[in-house]
Amino acid sequence: MRLSKLASEITESPTFALNEEARLLRERGEAVINLGIGEPRNKTPLSAVIASAAKLTSGEVKYVAPDGVPSLKKAVIRYTEENYERLVAPENVIITNGAKQSLFNILYSVLNPQDEVIVLAPYWVSYQQMIKMCMGIPVVVTPEDGTFTPRFEEIERTVTSSTRAIIVNSPNNPSGAIYPPELIEKIVNMCEKKGIFMICDDIYHKLTFDNNKAVPAYHFTKNDIESSHVIAVNGVAKLYGMTGFRVGWVIAPRELVRVMTNVTVQITSGVSPVSQAAAEGALTGVQSVVEALRLQIQNNRDVLLQEMSSFNGIRLIEPQGTFYALPDIRAYSNDSVAVSKFLLQKARVVVVPGREFGMEGHIRISFAGSVQDVTEGIDRIKWALDPTSPNEIYIGDKRMVRDWM
Ligand code: PMP
Repeated sequence: MRLSKLASEITESPTFALNEEARLLRERGEAVINLGIGEPRNKTPLSAVIASAAKLTSGEVKYVAPDGVPSLKKAVIRYTEENYERLVAPENVIITNGAKQSLFNILYSVLNPQDEVIVLAPYWVSYQQMIKMCMGIPVVVTPEDGTFTPRFEEIERTVTSSTRAIIVNSPNNPSGAIYPPELIEKIVNMCEKKGIFMICDDIYHKLTFDNNKAVPAYHFTKNDIESSHVIAVNGVAKLYGMTGFRVGWVIAPRELVRVMTNVTVQITSGVSPVSQAAAEGALTGVQSVVEALRLQIQNNRDVLLQEMSSFNGIRLIEPQGTFYALPDIRAYSNDSVAVSKFLLQKARVVVVPGREFGMEGHIRISFAGSVQDVTEGIDRIKWALDPTSPNEIYIGDKRMVRDWM
């Protein structure tokens, strides 16, 4: 079959592929633990349920404004004022089908073919694919010192006359790292000086641990929203654990929002008003749900650190935010894909290979699930990888034999 070359080159999402394999195993009655997926287990906040139910029962579920319903935009404006100390106009806001579509629409709206976009490793899997879908060229910067935080000089070195944008995701998926404010400040200054868009994927910005905070890039620009090159992306998926509602948003100069709206009109006509009502309900409801979720995830992180501390040979940089950890597994193998397959086959645990995030020799472990999942999942990984562990264990009533990869 002759298909588009561009579309055919888009790789399968490794996370979705692994989840599918895990689902099939579960269907066969296998006790699979999923430490692969980035999705908290909480129930949808009540205010979101009530608001979306009210929209549904009104029976008025029709096309709405493609850039978002005004009342949700208003809630987003308030959120931006409270969290970014920026007063923006409705024309600076566009509501999208998840943060994913926010990112894609931004890239589609700012890139010309062959324009370069800087991506910082370890990076979220979709950035590179989205850039390619928009005919751009991803330019990856990998920290040279073995940490998960690039040095500014390493970033600056990669800027060329073709650089149109840089994507900054802090707190970072997959490492849990928060970039220091000084780094953010330097990137903002560089972008504003050189006219490069700084796309801040802030989807985890409230999910930080201990006293760590992710200082927003807006703090470091004196330019107003129209002339600033800082763009913020956010959404309800991680903030409220509302992954299935598919609501994200962008704060950007009006001109960019106008172009993104035209793109949206042609592709999706906007986001379902039922989902938008849910997002508005969440944003205007009791905010203690966010803190409750953060505390639960922080507790999971602490359990993970405790479990990992007795794991010989594994190096782990402590996650400061998100619900991911990216341990270095090179003491056991350099091949993260082989290790991930091995862990699913032998220990029935799903993790994601670091290779997908530009960090070979690492695996990404999600601690968004239950404490039991984290504890048992890490125990099984230890059993499978550690050559000194007993040769067999029982998972449920199934005997698992550990023969090394
Ligand atoms: N950015 C990052 C870094 C993410 O981890 C995710 C979700 N895994 C997204 C964006 C997409 O979020 P949404 O579900 O709102 O599309």
